[in-house]
Amino acid sequence: MEHIRCLIIGSGPAGYTAAIYAGRANLSPVLYEGIQPGGQLTITTEVENFPGYPEGVAGPDLMEDLRKQAERFGTNIRSAIAMQADLSASPYKITFDDGNTVEADTVIIATGATAKYLGLDDEKKYAGMGVSACATCDGFFYRKKTVAVVGGGDTACEEAIYLAGLASKVYLIVRKPFLRASKIMQERVADNPKIEVLFEHNAEGLFGENGVEGVHLVKRLGEPDEQHYDLAIDGFFLAIGHKPNSDIFKPWVKTDETGYIITEGDSPRTGIPGVFAAGDVADPHYRQAITAAGSGCKAAIEAERYLAARKL
Ligand code: NDP
Repeated sequence: MEHIRCLIIGSGPAGYTAAIYAGRANLSPVLYEGIQPGGQLTITTEVENFPGYPEGVAGPDLMEDLRKQAERFGTNIRSAIAMQADLSASPYKITFDDGNTVEADTVIIATGATAKYLGLDDEKKYAGMGVSACATCDGFFYRKKTVAVVGGGDTACEEAIYLAGLASKVYLIVRKPFLRASKIMQERVADNPKIEVLFEHNAEGLFGENGVEGVHLVKRLGEPDEQHYDLAIDGFFLAIGHKPNSDIFKPWVKTDETGYIITEGDSPRTGIPGVFAAGDVADPHYRQAITAAGSGCKAAIEAERYLAARKL
């Protein structure tokens, strides 16, 4: 079985930053890219808040730069998905979907998070036929059409604004009477004439013959004046948050009720010696590219100290 000193699982800002630090520390890191090479930033448009880019940077370009920087310091990057983990004893064993199992002295879990859906049967029924959780991936299909975005956070606002650049009309379906998004995003939504915010609305289902033609809405759910009505739309976009990709590690590491890996204080230590968690998989609070990168850096420094202390 192949033996790895520093195994990094995931290729978002956390994984690549861990790889840069681990590579520079001569840990011969091996990084597995996972389901979405480059992570969530590869499906975003402009990143305006990553320090060092005064004019902003396209998400995919930022990830390509991080990848090159990780490769420059000798990271061995592979494209496979981790399917099973045995963290019962060191060296830890991870099995990938290409059939390989490797053993590692240190493991940095940087598997990120995946978009959530409402759980409606119609989301499955119309998957790829008008339902999407990624405006930048699928927005192109809705030029001059009418779409709805569900959610009231920064992601929902960002997606609504992006779609407003393509579609003729964007409804933002928000279950509360206010947006949770940051002030600047709220203002951009309010200032965009193509976006109409439907506060206190929930989506109950979708309809359409050969794809989404509309959404069943309920206004003021559970209130005496609750109202049900249908709205014609061509596309239905989910932007209601994310689920951490921690399933295969749950038998071994502590997680919260949503599945976020709980680390010790503000360190990336999981409680299992030599196993660290970095980025969105362990961050229910900030979930920013820069905080993910910072935690990836911490994880690699921890891995280096762990290996040095044991002369591994
Ligand atoms: P959030 O958790 O911030 O927001 C999720 C939104 O979806 C909330 O409005 C929530 O409603 C709503 N929601 C959740 N579940 C349901 C449901 N079942 N039905 C209807 N609505 C639902 O997630 P985001 O992905 O927007 O943001 C995550 C983090 O990433 C945040 O910290 C955000 O600031 C950050 N971010 C930053 C960006 C930037 O700085 N440019 C861009 C994108 C994200 P409710 O409010 O009622 O709970």
